[in-house]
Amino acid sequence: MSDTDLTPLMRQYREIKRGYRDAILFFRVGDFYEMFYEDAEEASRLLSIALTSRDKASANPVPLCGVPYHAATSYIAKLLKAGRTVAICDQVEDPKLAKGLVRREVVRLYTPGTLIDTELLSPAEPNFLAAVATSSRRSAQAAASPAFGLAALDLSTGEFWTMEFHGDRAATILIDELSRLEPKELLYPEEPSPGGAPWVGRLKGLRLCARSPACFDLLEARRVLQQQFGVSSLDGFGCASLTLGIQAAGAALRYLRETQPSSRLEHIRRLQVRRIGQDMHLDCATVQNLELVRPMIGGERRGEMTLLAVLDRTVTAMGSRLMRDWILKPLLSCDAINARLDAVAELKDAFQARAAIRTALRNVQDIGRLGSRLSLGVAGPRELLALKQSIAALPELRRHLSRLSAPLVRDLVRAWDDAGDLHDLIDRAIHPGAPAAWRDGGIFKDGVHPQVDELRKASKEGKNWIAGLEAQERQRTGIDSLKVRYNQVFGYYIEVTKANLSRVPDSYIRKQTLVNAERFTTPELKELEERVIGAESKVKALEQELFERLRAQVARETPRLQAIAAALALIDVLAALAETAALNRYVRPTVDEGETIRIVEGRHPVVERLEIDGGFVPNDTLLDLESNRLLILTGPNMAGKSTYLRQVALIVLMAQMGSFVPATEAKIGVVDRIFTRVGASDNLAGGQSTFMVEMIETANILNSATPRSLILLDEIGRGTSTYDGLSIAWAVAEYIHDRRHLGARTLFATHYHEMTQLANQREGVRNYRVDVQERDGDVLFLRKIVAGGADRSYGLHVAKLAGLPSPVIDRAREVLAQLEQPTATVCGESTELHARSEAEPLPRPHPLIEEVRQMDLFSMTPLDALNRLADLQRRIEQQAN
Ligand code: ADP
Ligand code: MG
Repeated sequence: MSDTDLTPLMRQYREIKRGYRDAILFFRVGDFYEMFYEDAEEASRLLSIALTSRDKASANPVPLCGVPYHAATSYIAKLLKAGRTVAICDQVEDPKLAKGLVRREVVRLYTPGTLIDTELLSPAEPNFLAAVATSSRRSAQAAASPAFGLAALDLSTGEFWTMEFHGDRAATILIDELSRLEPKELLYPEEPSPGGAPWVGRLKGLRLCARSPACFDLLEARRVLQQQFGVSSLDGFGCASLTLGIQAAGAALRYLRETQPSSRLEHIRRLQVRRIGQDMHLDCATVQNLELVRPMIGGERRGEMTLLAVLDRTVTAMGSRLMRDWILKPLLSCDAINARLDAVAELKDAFQARAAIRTALRNVQDIGRLGSRLSLGVAGPRELLALKQSIAALPELRRHLSRLSAPLVRDLVRAWDDAGDLHDLIDRAIHPGAPAAWRDGGIFKDGVHPQVDELRKASKEGKNWIAGLEAQERQRTGIDSLKVRYNQVFGYYIEVTKANLSRVPDSYIRKQTLVNAERFTTPELKELEERVIGAESKVKALEQELFERLRAQVARETPRLQAIAAALALIDVLAALAETAALNRYVRPTVDEGETIRIVEGRHPVVERLEIDGGFVPNDTLLDLESNRLLILTGPNMAGKSTYLRQVALIVLMAQMGSFVPATEAKIGVVDRIFTRVGASDNLAGGQSTFMVEMIETANILNSATPRSLILLDEIGRGTSTYDGLSIAWAVAEYIHDRRHLGARTLFATHYHEMTQLANQREGVRNYRVDVQERDGDVLFLRKIVAGGADRSYGLHVAKLAGLPSPVIDRAREVLAQLEQPTATVCGESTELHARSEAEPLPRPHPLIEEVRQMDLFSMTPLDALNRLADLQRRIEQQAN
């Protein structure tokens, strides 16, 4: 169909839709957003709303569906969830004043990474848009050394940072960073080559948005960023040495401008440069395994508990977001950690001050996001009232805080801003009962704007007169059932039933005829009506204009609001950590640059909160870079090995984020990274339990860890047959232990008790086991970690506990007894191995162990290593057959 066959409205639609092919276009017509053609078909399906058509009578009816404009947000939310973007096309001139067709424009594009709507955001989580810039793959230098720039921008708070990754491991570190960031949307340059960007394939569950490489242009990026911040160079932000970081930041900002064409984004005022090594590196497996902010999917779950859930006793949304940030970015600098700990310690002891501070904070709304909404011009009158209410808490908070002496708090107090001027500005103007929407009128207090007062008076007088009219006319006409009413379409009218029509005075003018009644007006009523309605619409328009002016005035103070929001978030987190420390009986850890991690009666912060028969059993830990470097932990299934490993990691992480820890004493020599690897069959999460994944993650640890790292290996080498599993576990343990390779502090839980023999060969290895008591063939779990290795796995006991029928257990016992005969062999290797105590000399290593060693697995790239291992596995399977 050619455009000339279309109605003017549909021509306008098509014109606008051309610019937004990938989005569903919400086209404002009257009180509705209408969708046409394919958009209508798709939206009606996704939203379960009726599909009809426009111009039904014509030869070319247009598929159509619509939603009321005031309820649009919930529909938009559904479409976003379904993976779509939504373009909002509004009428940008008053239909009453328009000559001909009303002008329409797209005013906003809704995408998951660019939301500012309170209803669509979760208060306790940031809402990041991320952009990744890559070095051009064509250049030879890029091929040798991959590099990335990553920028993150939260439109809802104005937070904006960028960083760069260089070197062989750049892609992996980028992926780790993204897994912590959890951006709601990720922009990346579309690759012209058919293979695309290989790293993109490694991103699971992220909303990806390929953009033309031109969007990442360096010069243009510099230009838009400089323009945004009103500077002539970005060096002041510490960007001097960056290129990819700037490209990524530029791409993010440009995308934001496209999605918010009607806003100047004034609340985005600076770009922070983050550097690798500023905070503790946590890889994506570790963030998941330690269940820092999200519970593991699948697996055995008792309550959806995370570290965040245990620690987060903040009372504001800003505090909640900062708490999450602290958990995901533990610090490395002892000074910074101790500054936080000093403040937490003081607040923990100052019970009354803490309670008063937390009470005052409860009156504080999300100033961080309010400031952005003001600046973006979307905040309504009630949000200004919320801001006023929040500001009102500031002087009191300052009073409580100024009694404390921790330097972190003192700094806050020194820079404190009560924002009394903003409070008064809002308080003087806005009526406490103001509506949520600024188009509704009734926003301002009486006596603020004389013109508003006058119009209100006129409308009120008119209404009073009309209210008196009914009684007056009843009396005049003698019609008792006469009514004066109002409706949207006909305005004010006098209604008289048919039976009384004979008594209607001549001055009545007929307006409308119903089945049982007639509706009239009078010249007087008509005049009053015009005055009332005129005054009402004038006062609404005036109030709207005045409100927008006031909002802009407050929005100019957004930088102050952002600073206040940051201060409140900080104090909220410190007080919450103090509260948690007091309630959960945590102690202050000693954090230093030393190499020792010594924990007395440590507890797992999350597991101890769950209902456990007999209560949680605390355990000690000693790790250093000397003779307690690698702890090998054995013990039956279900004994508590995994819990213990995670407990140590969590205590270290908590200490470095500035929290007290669940123990009676803790000394933490700062670690630079925490790595965890959970053996394939132990990790059922997401159906990813393949040996391949396990090996990739193990390779990642061995390639990325440093001697200052803390490594947890939980049952690695389990996803494959016993002997190559053991071989790999053994070789990995040696590599980590040996200073010429890694020499990092490590906890290694394994069901291969053969591993305990490593202690005889290596000076830094210690054996521990989780104690159990055997009674009448049953095991009793004591949950106590004691020195020494387990000599058997108690697998049958656990099978019995699990309820396997007794004939099966009995038969298994027989088979085991046979297997444990010294003559029995498996894969040509004596199973006598299983029965040895650790005092005896090490048996000749399995030939495969030698082979793995000779492979020098870890000097290869992970992929080569995996291929070699897969090959090895094939050969073992052939051998076994
Ligand atoms: P393993 O890794 O040895 O198989 P887990 O660490 O998974 O064992 O622990 C099994 C269960 O034992 C956990 O779900 C927990 O409920 C309980 N548990 C572990 N450690 C303790 C402890 N120190 N005190 C009390 N219960 C514990
Ligand atoms: Mg386990």
